[in-house]
Amino acid sequence: MAMETTETRQRTAGEPILRTENLVKQFGQFTATDRIDLTVERGEFRSIIGPNGAGKTTLFNLITGALPVTEGAIHFDGEDITSLSSSERVRRGIGRSFQISNIFGGLTVRENVRLAAQSFDRDQYNFLESLFKPVGRYDGMNDRTDRVLERIGLADVADETADVLPYGDKRRLEIGVVLATEPDLVLFDEPTAGMSVEETRATIDLIEEVLVDQTLLLIEHDIELVMELSDRITVLNRGEVLAEGAPAEIAGNEDVQDAYLGGMIE
Ligand code: ADP
Ligand code: MG
Repeated sequence: MAMETTETRQRTAGEPILRTENLVKQFGQFTATDRIDLTVERGEFRSIIGPNGAGKTTLFNLITGALPVTEGAIHFDGEDITSLSSSERVRRGIGRSFQISNIFGGLTVRENVRLAAQSFDRDQYNFLESLFKPVGRYDGMNDRTDRVLERIGLADVADETADVLPYGDKRRLEIGVVLATEPDLVLFDEPTAGMSVEETRATIDLIEEVLVDQTLLLIEHDIELVMELSDRITVLNRGEVLAEGAPAEIAGNEDVQDAYLGGMIE
């Protein structure tokens, strides 16, 4: 029996791209993430939900290398990356967007994408060096920039200044800046924070469209959209995994329902 799934998405089941093992983060005596085992398969859309303070952003910070782990290990693409710097992790294919905008308003759309592509050239170990590359390499960079512009649907406005873009196109550009690093895994931490219901819906649709063949790890508070978008959902509560499963399983999970009824999850 064929599984019901989004028609355009191709998934390679069973192959983990990310695996955290017993991941602990302590801030002094406080345990922000408590022995988290998380396995994400290649091509999967995984959402992380849970109440404020559950440890979602901390988990992202551990995965991207923004924070060192207290205990445990992180494996990416079959390798132990636990002690690698965050820029090394970007080079290995972990891309992240930040809640604050990552675009430069005074630069054009193309310049924004190109700058991101250049500063995180995955074959390159040194940003300064990357500024003094032979011309041939710049051609490669231009190709990559063009591919990203196509993908995010901004090729037509590539020479516009980012500042003058309408709101929706700015969001597209933000995704493009992440894609310019050619990530194998994309992490978005509340990309819809502060948005209206309509803007939230549009942004999630956009993510679904643009990241169709990517692996996505998403922190998002709109439960309805999370249910629609995700292949699997991981629920965190007080630093621990409370539940994990397909949207229908999560919706039917008693612990999760209790958490909702108790108002723990907004
Ligand atoms: P979430 O993203 O799920 O809302 P966070 O991961 O941001 O939660 O935070 C989890 C807990 O860890 C919170 O209680 C927060 O106050 C605490 N915390 C997060 N970062 C730090 C830090 N740098 N220093 C001390 N406590 C922190
Ligand atoms: Mg957070």
